Amino acid sequence: MTTTLWMDGKLVSHDEARANPLANTLHYGTGVFEGIRSYATPTGPRIFRLAEHLERMRQGASFLGIELDTEWLADGCCDALAANELGDAYLRPLTYFESGGLGLDVGKLTERSLVAAIPWTSHLGAEARARGISLQTSTWRRLRATESPALKLCGNYVGAVIAKKAAVDAGYDEALYVDDHGFVCEGAAENIFLVKNQRVTAVKHRDMLPGITRKTIIELANAEERPVTRAELDTADEVFVTGTSAEVTGVNRLDHRDLGVGPVTLELSRLYDAVVRGQTEANRGWLHAA
Ligand code: PMP
Repeated sequence: MTTTLWMDGKLVSHDEARANPLANTLHYGTGVFEGIRSYATPTGPRIFRLAEHLERMRQGASFLGIELDTEWLADGCCDALAANELGDAYLRPLTYFESGGLGLDVGKLTERSLVAAIPWTSHLGAEARARGISLQTSTWRRLRATESPALKLCGNYVGAVIAKKAAVDAGYDEALYVDDHGFVCEGAAENIFLVKNQRVTAVKHRDMLPGITRKTIIELANAEERPVTRAELDTADEVFVTGTSAEVTGVNRLDHRDLGVGPVTLELSRLYDAVVRGQTEANRGWLHAA
């Protein structure tokens, strides 16, 4: 299927789009991206918490010396969605250094911004929400926020790819990052929650990505946020992950321990689905008309 990309304000067919093999970003990961979802709702396509996603991207870009125009990118998201006639979609804005050299001083390089709109369910697979996913505690550590900002900078994800590959090679769906002190950080591309005696707790860690789905679930479930050790997850009634793509997905196996996808997780997963699809009043102005 030929998709249409939004590139620096213009709509371009995917087949015609060209990237420079000497783009600085290709060599060093010097770019910033977002993962955003749009949903078909009774009143047309809606983009979930678009402004917050683009604000996180703007913050990431600022570390690369790029001043991102978030209004312009918001238009790009809407245009890409409309050009591909999609309702349920994943939107991928990316700003990267297309030309100007391979040096590490990126100050004089020329950046390019694009938005792709892709038909999408979940990166964990369509079945994941019903049956849950398995998590393996990774032997890899997440990049610390003191080493690179805990934002969606392209290069930050190499470690996540390596951790995920190790988990998948071992027969698990996803990697769980734990720090040197035994505290849970996050999944390779998801934040972590636990449920104990009906109380919902969001794992808090200074190195984790400030997830927008995490924030949404904290608000909807009135969850507490606090540091959690890996050992504490072993005594939890339920564990689940959140993310734009993962949405709310239960954990059915944590290393060697089998867990059922519990009732609180299923209820939150249904509530989240109703919120993003505009089927409940609880959406608090989070749906952006595309
Ligand atoms: N952590 C990481 C490392 C991620 O890449 C993601 C996906 N963006 C998340 C957590 C979840 O964040 P969000 O809910 O904003 O998608």
